[in-house]
Amino acid sequence: MRKAPISPPILLMQRPFNFSAGPATIAPEVLAQAAAEMLDWPDANGRHSGMGVMEMSHRGKEFQSIYTQAEADLRELLAVPAHFKILFMQGGGLAENAIVPLNLSRYRAQTGTNGDADFVVTGSWSDKSQKEARKYCDVHVAATNQADGHTSLPEPSSWQLRPQASYVHLCTNETINGVEYHTLPDLKALGSDAALVIDFSSHVASRPVDWSRVGLAFAGAQKNLGPAGLTVVVVREDLLGHAMDICPSAFNYKTVADNQSMYNTPPTYGIYMAGLVFQWLKRQGGIAAMEARNIAKATLLYEAIDSSSLYVNTVQSHCRSRMNVPFFLRDASRNDAFLAGAQAAGLLQLKGHKSVGGMRASIYNAMPLEGVQTLVSYMREFERTGA
Ligand SMILES: *Cc1c(COP(=O)(O)O)cnc(C)c1O
Repeated sequence: MRKAPISPPILLMQRPFNFSAGPATIAPEVLAQAAAEMLDWPDANGRHSGMGVMEMSHRGKEFQSIYTQAEADLRELLAVPAHFKILFMQGGGLAENAIVPLNLSRYRAQTGTNGDADFVVTGSWSDKSQKEARKYCDVHVAATNQADGHTSLPEPSSWQLRPQASYVHLCTNETINGVEYHTLPDLKALGSDAALVIDFSSHVASRPVDWSRVGLAFAGAQKNLGPAGLTVVVVREDLLGHAMDICPSAFNYKTVADNQSMYNTPPTYGIYMAGLVFQWLKRQGGIAAMEARNIAKATLLYEAIDSSSLYVNTVQSHCRSRMNVPFFLRDASRNDAFLAGAQAAGLLQLKGHKSVGGMRASIYNAMPLEGVQTLVSYMREFERTGA
């Protein structure tokens, strides 16, 4: 028997709330629109193309219009200045850990001398970044919060920056440890000419970015922008054109920029999906409106944790992440019961990262306030009844 096709309204039914750290929940309206357009994508005037987006040439006028709109919407949403390029790449955050030093570390070919990069290590992701960069340049850890188990953030004034570093790498939201920089450092004011590179994978589009302080920002899409497989890079133009000879052409930012992200076939469906997310973000009121909602959600959840005698979050309050909220049960023997009850209550993927344990609630843009309210009610009920 043939299965009946799923009609979009089904996707708009109440679904469980999904707290996955990534790939993560996507607004149901976005998924429904993608479903409706799966077999036959219509243009802005409603003219049918007769093709699904996955089946289109990336050089055809249909996909070009999808691409141009997505780029323009992201530029508008994040207020990206004209002297920055927006690149749509592949390889995720981990590939960028290599691609950034390959492009920015300034290897000196005449003398065969490595370039230099400084890293602020504040959790699992920035630690991975500095380890990978060691393959391509001289790495110096300028500051770390290792001593307190990644629950604080070192003040920029305490960073040991080197004058010769061509860039300083910072993970502005540590997805696993739940620490977030709420202000970007001003490297100039710290006496450094280095470019600031930020890994903003897990809080991109959740808050505004002060581009005057940034040289390059990268983000895997699967937390806050859409499906896995797309990586967004925002890079200041003067940083292009300094790649090492060994840099793969498809990962040379200048080559990618000169070809409007189409040096090779870009992740077309990921770009389309991110474009739908950008349109959805604009309908929500843009980044300022999202930030206000994100603050409200995070405040509600942290207050519930802090006011309970069962749950605990150990991150210092000034650097708690608005996106990823790790918490522990003081009685760890109740972890499994907590997760099973949550699942039954329609609260999915709350298990903490294996390196940290406990629980983690990721409350990205697409998590509605109602999802956090439902989680908080469940947590109170579980604490009260013990089941
Ligand atoms: C998820 C994540 C990554 C990993 O990206 P991949 O797409 O898995 O390579 C990198 N950095 C941060 C901060 C992340 O949250």
